[in-house]
Amino acid sequence: MTEPVVYRIATLPGDGIGPEVTAPTVELLRLATKTCGGFELDFITLEAGAEHYRTTGESFSDDSLEIARESDAILLGAMGLPAVRYEDGTEIAPQLELREKLELYAGVRPIRTIKGLPVPLVDPRGRELDFVLVRESTEGLFKSRNSAAVVDDRIARDTLEITRATSERLFDFAFDIARQRKAKGGTGTVTCVDKANVLGSFAFFRKIFDERAKRFPDIEAQHGYVDAVGLSMVKQPWIFDVLVTENMFGDILSDVGAGLMGGMGFAPSADIGDEHAVFQPCHGSAPDIMGQGKANPVATFLSGAMMLEWLGSEHGVEQCRLASRKIYNAVDAAFAGGTLIPYELGGDAGTSEIAEAVTAAMDRAAAA
Ligand code: ATP
Repeated sequence: MTEPVVYRIATLPGDGIGPEVTAPTVELLRLATKTCGGFELDFITLEAGAEHYRTTGESFSDDSLEIARESDAILLGAMGLPAVRYEDGTEIAPQLELREKLELYAGVRPIRTIKGLPVPLVDPRGRELDFVLVRESTEGLFKSRNSAAVVDDRIARDTLEITRATSERLFDFAFDIARQRKAKGGTGTVTCVDKANVLGSFAFFRKIFDERAKRFPDIEAQHGYVDAVGLSMVKQPWIFDVLVTENMFGDILSDVGAGLMGGMGFAPSADIGDEHAVFQPCHGSAPDIMGQGKANPVATFLSGAMMLEWLGSEHGVEQCRLASRKIYNAVDAAFAGGTLIPYELGGDAGTSEIAEAVTAAMDRAAAA
């Protein structure tokens, strides 16, 4: 009998609600893995974040970074606490350092509504909300993070950086996603979101987008100014297929996308590079609800599903993809009845109720 392949998952629960949503996700991933067979996950927990910085003076040690780098994938909860800051006033954010150090240029944020939830926007024509935002995650306006130049307490400047090398990889990645979605019925459209009418950096971004678009003649390339796209996202988000944008714009628009899904607790994400990938919910550490059992773990469950999907594609292992689909199906089944409503949507389902409902749905599917 052949031994199942084992994937090592560096797990960084982090701060605030991070550990609260990571723990049930690890359990769900274990269950999905067991149900499918053919592969195993070996979770290694690493300390990182604001609380770790407060107690050790270090936000993420070099040794832990190396373990994460050597792992097959990284699963992250949330990091940062408003009360714990570096001397320049910025928050502790090892998740941003990871994106830069591991060159995770493509931040993938799927925006899809789950049936049975009282989401804020419903299409009168019945179209489902299902699009993907690809956020560049290593440069843009975030590039000057920790290096703002404040002159004489009078002027502050941050520099927005767009490089050809990263932009080319980013756009190719976005066109590839559109191609994969088209094969499953998507419209095959990528919209470059920028502010090319005002800033030269974005005109350059758009120029590179147009150049790369020529390599994907089967995909339609469109442009949208960020303000107009923001308007459309709350007016008619059904028109979108794949959006690709700069780091800061992506940061803002992905929270708008989370709102469309029902709240931050539903929004998963993957930060993907050519060699590594980090999977984490879009939300932060939510200190306002930490320790209360109110955090919605669905965003982290779905990030775990994205991790399995990515491992499956990277290694050509169908059981990983199957385990991923089982998580998506279990989440959909848990909410389908319309009675499981998380706190963030005005209901009374907390972390454990939601985790139990999703686990039960997975058990039911396995028994069927
Ligand atoms: P960051 O800048 O670190 O991404 P943020 O400032 O966007 O963080 P969050 O920590 O994401 O802030 O919280 C924004 C709001 O969403 C808060 O009111 C928080 O309680 C809520 N929230 C975030 N995550 C969840 C969750 N999993 N379940 C329920 N509510 C959440």
